[in-house]
Amino acid sequence: MRKNSIIFLIIMIIVLVISFIFINKEKNNIARTSNRENVYEQNIALNEEDNQNIVVSININNAQQNEATVEKQENEVNTENTIRNQNTAEGKEAESKKTENKKVENKTKENKIVGNKTTNKVSEKENKEENKKSKNKTIAIDPGHQTKGDSSKEPIGPGATETKAKVTTGATGVSTKQTESELNLKVALKLESELKQRGYRVVMTRTTNNVNISNIQRAEIANNSNADAFIRIHADSVDNETVNRNVYIMPNFTK
Ligand SMILES: [Zn+2]
Repeated sequence: MRKNSIIFLIIMIIVLVISFIFINKEKNNIARTSNRENVYEQNIALNEEDNQNIVVSININNAQQNEATVEKQENEVNTENTIRNQNTAEGKEAESKKTENKKVENKTKENKIVGNKTTNKVSEKENKEENKKSKNKTIAIDPGHQTKGDSSKEPIGPGATETKAKVTTGATGVSTKQTESELNLKVALKLESELKQRGYRVVMTRTTNNVNISNIQRAEIANNSNADAFIRIHADSVDNETVNRNVYIMPNFTK
């Protein structure tokens, strides 16, 4: 019985020792795990810090980018302003050039006017010479036709038995529809003022369109004024383009 009791005790001790060892081992394991957890936690914390760092760096980067953008924008604005200023400067230059050009133009105009004055001086000389020629000279002008024609007949010339209509209405402008009597009067009035300027005495057969003066009467007006020349103004028309048209100035052969 004693021997059995001793064996039981030994077994119990072995069991206790094993249990102790096992328990210690578990304790160590738990401690290791908690250590690992700590390490994980620390790592997580570190990671979070990193993240914060990243966030901070991103913010810094953003801020830098913003600064860069602002700088860029400022630069752009400055460049734009510079360009605008340059443009304004160029514009001012262009304007001043324009003004210069205008000045030059004005000078040219002045020169032209001076040139004209010179021409006028020449033409004044010519006028003086022409005034000598035109002194006491009479020019009779007959603007051909009148508004209403007179179809009654009269001899075609002094002593002639052949007759024709006393006066006709004349031609009419193809596109302007202006009557020949109107056009002839306009030209005659211009010639009258030009001849008078040159010192000639001018006699007009008519100065309006609403008249009734036959061709013989017109010749008599010129003859009675003792004109040195008789100018009859016409703008006749003809369908045949090969026909030549002539202008006659009838000098006074009696003088
Ligand atoms: Zn005519």
